[in-house]
Amino acid sequence: TEVALQRIEETDGTIKAYLTVTAEEAMARAKKLDNLPEGNLPLLYGIPGALKDNMCTEGVRTTCASQILANYIPPYTATAVAKLEEHNYVLVGKTNMDEFAMGSSTENSSFFKTANPWDPERVPGGSSGGSAATVAAGHVPFALGSDTGGSVRQPASYCGVVGLKPTYGRVSRFGLVAFASSLDQIGPIARNVEDAATVLQAVAGYDKMDSTSANVEVPDYLAALTGDIKGLRIGMPKEYFAEGLDPEVAARVREAIQTLESLGAVVEEVTLPHTQYAVSTYYLIAPAEASSNLARYDGVRYGVRVEDAEALLDMYKKTRAQGFGPEVKRRIMLGTYALSSGYYDAYYLRAQKVRTLIKQDFDKVFERFDVVVSPTAPTVAFKSGEKIDDPMTMYLNDIYTIPVNLAGLPGISVPCGLAQGMPVGLQIIGKAFDESTLLKVAHAYE
Ligand code: GLN
Repeated sequence: TEVALQRIEETDGTIKAYLTVTAEEAMARAKKLDNLPEGNLPLLYGIPGALKDNMCTEGVRTTCASQILANYIPPYTATAVAKLEEHNYVLVGKTNMDEFAMGSSTENSSFFKTANPWDPERVPGGSSGGSAATVAAGHVPFALGSDTGGSVRQPASYCGVVGLKPTYGRVSRFGLVAFASSLDQIGPIARNVEDAATVLQAVAGYDKMDSTSANVEVPDYLAALTGDIKGLRIGMPKEYFAEGLDPEVAARVREAIQTLESLGAVVEEVTLPHTQYAVSTYYLIAPAEASSNLARYDGVRYGVRVEDAEALLDMYKKTRAQGFGPEVKRRIMLGTYALSSGYYDAYYLRAQKVRTLIKQDFDKVFERFDVVVSPTAPTVAFKSGEKIDDPMTMYLNDIYTIPVNLAGLPGISVPCGLAQGMPVGLQIIGKAFDESTLLKVAHAYE
């Protein structure tokens, strides 16, 4: 913990991964853990870690990188975080992110931008950019992020670390500030697969406080890391190796797939025919859910309230106008429109039907294959400022990660070499609740 805090002190002035560093509390906590208990140590005993700032931490400010929650101190702790505590981790701080997790570059934070530790001119990815950057910078061995359309896997890919989005329902969302409730999932970002498996082991499991939490047994993830993938069947979706994919990124991913083949896996091309509709489907469903979830920030119940309001309605309007940034407002407007009477059937309902088709594409492939592999993102980390004025290009960046959230499946990004001097990520997608196979393949490769 001391070393982690020292490294943060030394390099976070330029990387800016943290919105809050809990140095004093961390040292106090670590000191308490200096007296080792008898018997087996808990999984994360004394290990420093960081949390994306959209996970509630009792007594520690939780902002979602938004001005509307700039002063919000939650009265309770998210279940996933409470589980880390049960395993005796040490919280060193809360990491920067795109406001309310909306974005792919962490440039939508209302506080400041985070730099990619590989090249400070480039973005760390997003929305869990701070979590990926702090792990890549060597501050801490792990951090938690959240993934609604790729926000754990894409920043992990851009920063050259491992990022895992578990199956929807595997990790409790209680205390994770809701963005799009049917897509959000908390996941670990770590330096290697074994560490990611260890953190998943700690945070996974049923929680009665989250009605969408799945009551499915949590296997021993570390036991899955055997290195043996002989005979394993891998599908390579042709739609994920098409237009828009950087040729150098494609080359690294193909090399990685050859490595898997040389380890005894059987690789075949497959088709996920509805892939082309995934981004549009997502940009109806996610904003629709967001517009509903973000209605609660009215200046009364949470966070900041403007002072110069004349009456209640005026207070709501001013608080929301000043408290939300441009991307959040864009999503609220999109979502409100898609849900409004007369348009619901044409947009939201339609999107839900396409979502089912996307899921069925995967179901069909998983009848014959154990995992599906692809690039995590079409390019390496782009330059800061390059896409921020063009939301469509930013949205298209998530083309390979979004279908996985729409289908509720687990996905992992593992580093597979460099292109243009920057890290490339290999995405491995698995069957629902089969994180073990994902981890096994990623570990065998790494
Ligand atoms: N980049 C996507 C978005 O802006 C996904 C974000 C996420 O996974 N939280 O919605």
